[in-house]
Amino acid sequence: MDSGAVLVKAGGVLGRLPRMVGRALLDTLYPPLCLNCEAAVVDADGLCATCFAKLRPITAPLCPRLGIPFQISLGPDALSAEAIADPPPFDRSRSAVLYNEVARTIVSRMKYGDRPELARFCGRLMVGAGGELWAGKPILLPVPLHPLRHIGRRYNQSLELARVIGQFTGLAVDPELVRRKKPTRQQVGLSAEARTRNVAGAFAAHPELLARTKGRPVVIVDDVITTGSTINAVTKALQKAGVGAVDVISFARVVPGHEAEIGLVADGGLPI
Ligand SMILES: [Zn+2]
Repeated sequence: MDSGAVLVKAGGVLGRLPRMVGRALLDTLYPPLCLNCEAAVVDADGLCATCFAKLRPITAPLCPRLGIPFQISLGPDALSAEAIADPPPFDRSRSAVLYNEVARTIVSRMKYGDRPELARFCGRLMVGAGGELWAGKPILLPVPLHPLRHIGRRYNQSLELARVIGQFTGLAVDPELVRRKKPTRQQVGLSAEARTRNVAGAFAAHPELLARTKGRPVVIVDDVITTGSTINAVTKALQKAGVGAVDVISFARVVPGHEAEIGLVADGGLPI
């Protein structure tokens, strides 16, 4: 009996050995690297301390509609000047970090580099930033790519982000709620007005949208919000089809005066 128990115990350790050795071997062959500067780090899917310190998390106090940070708290219901001057069609938007140099590097690598570990890093931060959006048990809708663009890029980074958020929150992801019905020009370098014209009418809701959402709110998932033209167009497609509550979550957000580099990013992960 005793020797049997010892054998079972030893078997447990031995059973884990291949995985432990495999992990150690992998770490030796491919040591985890900082997602920004590629310095060696202890844990995979993260940044080194120096790069992490350069990220600018967006925290309260912030505009309850647009999610842009305030210097000082103006009270829970105080809106930003931007939200008052040009009210967005969606209810609330939240973003994990300000769009700065480090965020730009991460997003461009995620978009063009086919690196799923970047989506895991960004998605985890988005889960925290969107905390108040998850209570209504929304459906997650990644900003869709046009099918032709999807083939060229191999994957949709907004879908990858939505999947990570779904894994952590238990929320469902439905990438088919809205489709991009026409290819649009790349948003990079376009003015705010041109961006709006560019994506106007570009999105169409699924014909059975309301049957799929069953009255639940929808949270649009995007990588970067610049002028908001893409998320506004997706919101309008959802509302036209009858969805009542629409919120938005993004990894990064361009905030004027905060290291913004609008000309260098494709709004909404766009395309073309
Ligand atoms: Zn680094």
